Amino acid sequence: MQSAATAPAKSQSRLLLDLVAVRKTFEGFNAVDTVNLQVLENEFFTIVGPSGSGKTTLLRMLAGMDRPSEGDIVLRGASISSLPPNKRPTCMVFQSLALFPHKTVGQNIEFPLKMRKASPADRRERALELMAMVRLPESYYGKNVMKCSGGERQRVALARAFAYDPEILLFDEPLSAIDYKLRKTLEKELKDLHRQSGKTFIYITHSLEEAMVMSDRIGVMRAGKLVQVGTPEQIYTRPVDRFVAEFMGETNVMPVRNDSRGAWTVEGLPGKFQVTGNGGALDGHIVVRPEFVRFLSDAAETDNVLAGSICNEYSLGSRIQYQVQVGSRVILMEQPRGALAQVGADGHVLLGWNAADAVFVAE
Ligand code: ADP
Ligand code: MG
Repeated sequence: MQSAATAPAKSQSRLLLDLVAVRKTFEGFNAVDTVNLQVLENEFFTIVGPSGSGKTTLLRMLAGMDRPSEGDIVLRGASISSLPPNKRPTCMVFQSLALFPHKTVGQNIEFPLKMRKASPADRRERALELMAMVRLPESYYGKNVMKCSGGERQRVALARAFAYDPEILLFDEPLSAIDYKLRKTLEKELKDLHRQSGKTFIYITHSLEEAMVMSDRIGVMRAGKLVQVGTPEQIYTRPVDRFVAEFMGETNVMPVRNDSRGAWTVEGLPGKFQVTGNGGALDGHIVVRPEFVRFLSDAAETDNVLAGSICNEYSLGSRIQYQVQVGSRVILMEQPRGALAQVGADGHVLLGWNAADAVFVAE
């Protein structure tokens, strides 16, 4: 099923991990169901999906904490499915950081180096290097980790993961317990760290925003299945179904069908519509992102035109979200500040979207 839309983005990168029909069954229940996925060297690959969709189970199999019930995990051509965690080139960074609470920042970071019997001087040197990399001040070396803030502990955990020097870092929602502002900072830092370190990151989150900011590619999971794999751009603008479209943020999803005379109608909306990309299907849904619906001053400006009344307006900061009642539907719009609607004498505004900006999904 490798098409242009699902092919890995970096043409020069080489295949690192190959998941072949991987399944994990718990008492007859498929937590991970026949997942096929290829991850490239140096890639930042993010798995998103709602709670319970099988993300952690998939990551645990990559780390060697669980064995697939069926299928195979292949690293550079050799199966690693039966290798224990310590024989794999992976290291897991959890949401609950699992640091040693009574030890210092330095001791926590040096733990993997100590296991490898590095000398105290070498350990200290490497720990300080890693601290600089994750932007922890040198003075923290002797600080007890319990006296560090949540964000600082997150950095300690990250530095310790790097101390193992794994080829692949596996992250299970490491930022989900951190407040918004710090999370935004750490997201960007993680992305920088990924670039600088040249390692492969496989990252789990249930946050679309986080996935969009950091990832080279994203895989969307639903009920154990990987339903779409693509670049953030592809996932956002070309969702394969309603589930992906709705998971990727607030959007307009409208049932559409081709009537016996060949015209497209949308349930609950007046008039006819132009629909593209339906691939022969005569009914389904159209997905129109709120930012693609705009106010018009003239009905000739675009393909799909409606008249409605604004029922709600919310400031999102740089943009404004509008809810516009049209027929029995509420259309969601998002416009830059200053893109004002022209309200006609009847209290209606004209709005519309280009057919090419809408995505047709059959299911
Ligand atoms: P996610 O990380 O996406 O929230 P998980 O991978 O943790 O999802 O879980 C996927 C499904 O598998 C859930 O329904 C969960 O209850 C089930 N599950 C996970 N681990 C076990 C286990 N050890 N025993 C039984 N069921 C499990
Ligand atoms: Mg999980």
